[in-house]
Amino acid sequence: MLKLENVSAHYGAIQALHNVSIEVNEGEIVTLIGANGAGKTTLLKTVCGNPRASEGKIFLFGEDVTQHETHVIMRKDIAISPEGRRVFPALTVVENLKMGGFFLDKQEIEEGIAHVFALFPRLEERANQRAGTMSGGEQQMLAIGRALMSRPKLLLLDEPTLGLAPLIIAQIFEIIQTIRQQGITVFLVEQNANKALQVADRGYVLETGRVVLEDTGANLLVNDDVRKAYLGH
Ligand code: ATP
Repeated sequence: MLKLENVSAHYGAIQALHNVSIEVNEGEIVTLIGANGAGKTTLLKTVCGNPRASEGKIFLFGEDVTQHETHVIMRKDIAISPEGRRVFPALTVVENLKMGGFFLDKQEIEEGIAHVFALFPRLEERANQRAGTMSGGEQQMLAIGRALMSRPKLLLLDEPTLGLAPLIIAQIFEIIQTIRQQGITVFLVEQNANKALQVADRGYVLETGRVVLEDTGANLLVNDDVRKAYLGH
């Protein structure tokens, strides 16, 4: 579904990704864990074409998209919920969701909103509330809901639990599993390694722009290096 082959990426002279190879197969939850500044967000951005891979190849649904423009890539059944949520604070919940479906027709937008509300009843209760007045957890739900509006086959999630309370974090991870049950493949970038590895089929560990470990989520959870560096025990 998504495959990176020896991908490098640069910001000017700074190399942020070094020969990264990652595969996400249909139906999986795959997680990428790593410390602050390891290059996790850069990796997702590179998949979206900005920055562009300076070396290597990126395949999406079997097609080489390495040289494609972002707006072309983002129509290929792929959606991203970016780091920091980035909802439109002055717009209501429904208006935010509509922004996620701006290239859909009217009926598809209505279906999309109904689908998101079924997944997040909390958002339906707040349909006309301005996003900026909602709690962090609610805004995160909205950011994920907005990404789901286009009914993607592959969902990229950038640190969806950052800064949230434990109860809300647990809810977000439950929702991620529900999304997968609905047939959507999930590539999850997280600092919350413990929870992310618990829900993931497979995981990758990124350190200073390099993949240093890959294994099943279950194996990474008991890996000594992962436990010391990312699980705190
Ligand atoms: P965090 O968890 O803190 O978001 P991350 O693993 O997502 O970290 P990135 O944001 O991808 O890490 O950053 C990787 C490296 O690239 C860092 O050294 C960062 O300073 C650098 N970097 C990120 N964005 C830019 C940019 N626009 N211009 C220059 N350097 C950048």
